[in-house]
Amino acid sequence: MLIELNDIYKNYGQGDNLVRALRGISLQVEDGEMVAVMGKSGSGKSTLLNIIGGLDAFDQGEYYYSGQKVVFKNQEQMARFRHNKIGFIIQNFALIEHKTVFDNVALPLRYNRLSRKVIETKVMQELSNMGLQDKAKRYPYQLSGGQCQRVAIARALINEPDLILADEPTGALDSNTEEEVINILLDFNRQGKTMIIVTHDRNIAAMCNRTINILDGKDVSA
Ligand code: ADP
Repeated sequence: MLIELNDIYKNYGQGDNLVRALRGISLQVEDGEMVAVMGKSGSGKSTLLNIIGGLDAFDQGEYYYSGQKVVFKNQEQMARFRHNKIGFIIQNFALIEHKTVFDNVALPLRYNRLSRKVIETKVMQELSNMGLQDKAKRYPYQLSGGQCQRVAIARALINEPDLILADEPTGALDSNTEEEVINILLDFNRQGKTMIIVTHDRNIAAMCNRTINILDGKDVSA
């Protein structure tokens, strides 16, 4: 079992602004599974993904990753967890516009102490896997949407994460590019990577092993 969440609660804000984003979610994901998360806007999907990925802390409940209890005492612990284990792919790529493609992909490696040579080899290998080896010196604004998403995917994979979390990975893409990105994701899954994908797209959900349906911060799949 890679992921086990038991009765997770998450609130944002206080008093009149209190939002109960997650209200007792439990979830188990096996190694190598590809799981879709669906539900209408505001139901808590991104919150769930952010908690699994260590981008956000939860208020109540238990989280086990590979059988180990996940306890985040501070931001640094969360960052270390993320950088070692998780690859994030999000809708609008979140590339850094004033950095080159190379530097964007290299970013997660900066947290590990690697030589320049090793960084270069890893980044160029990852870019070449994505068919972007000739774009290393370009800037994001010089690329198409599909190319940007491939750069973002290369960045998500550079640390060889066990778990890939994708939040609407095709939401901002045209249908050709969408298919290309889906094929890349399916390929990772075939290589044994575990994947959790938040999506509104039933076609993507159909390619996953199963779908979790979220409503008002609860799992209503059953
Ligand atoms: P979804 O991904 O399903 O659209 P979210 O997880 O983004 O839903 O949001 C769930 C609820 O939590 C929404 O009501 C949203 O407005 C609220 N929320 C999410 N993040 C924050 C935040 N950082 N601060 C305050 N409220 C938030």
